[in-house]
Amino acid sequence: KFISFEGLDGSGKTSVMQAIQARLVERLGADKIVMTREPGGTPLGETIREVLLADAAKTMDPVTEALLFAASRRQHVVEKIQPALAKQQWVLSDRFLDSSLAYQGGGRQLGVETVQAINAVAVNDCLPDLTIFLDVPRTAGLERIQKHRQNQVNRLDQEQADFYERVRATFLTLAQENPARLVVVDATQPLAEVVAAVWQVIETRL
Ligand code: C5P
Ligand code: MG
Repeated sequence: KFISFEGLDGSGKTSVMQAIQARLVERLGADKIVMTREPGGTPLGETIREVLLADAAKTMDPVTEALLFAASRRQHVVEKIQPALAKQQWVLSDRFLDSSLAYQGGGRQLGVETVQAINAVAVNDCLPDLTIFLDVPRTAGLERIQKHRQNQVNRLDQEQADFYERVRATFLTLAQENPARLVVVDATQPLAEVVAAVWQVIETRL
């Protein structure tokens, strides 16, 4: 099974994924679970991630940005996700295609269709069985980031509020359009409740 986790920065993706991983390891065994992330997930993908997050990328053209996310994703699919799925492992990915649709399509206003087209070759038919969107208003996410990791802010974390409003609105639209795959979870609840809600979705859907 392939599960992606999506959400704005500060939505709690990392904490929720760690808790879900622990439960799946308990149930299926450690060798059945692969945790990964985008941009990154492979040595080449992590190098592309550094390029995307660098201060030197401040003037990066939005299409260039979308192409680099897609390049990282392509390598991720071919080198890591598909081989794991072929071995019947479960793949849990911190972000996948929907992040590009929401951030570059919505946030950068390239349009969801354009970003979908850019990603068509990269993803082919390797889509998640289930996508969890951890939904928080931007202000709640910001608060968490400021509390917990002030020093880790990168150039992509410094957009204006309207950018993140567009990203969130695009995620919510994608969820409405893909109800069989994409589930919205209210991530403003305490962590234990978010984890319980996500676990219930995984148990009922997969
Ligand atoms: O999720 P993570 O913090 O690792 O993502 C790194 C940065 O890239 C974040 O600032 C996130 O908002 C941004 N991002 C983006 N477009 C994507 C995926 C992530 O701007 N498609
Ligand atoms: Mg981050």
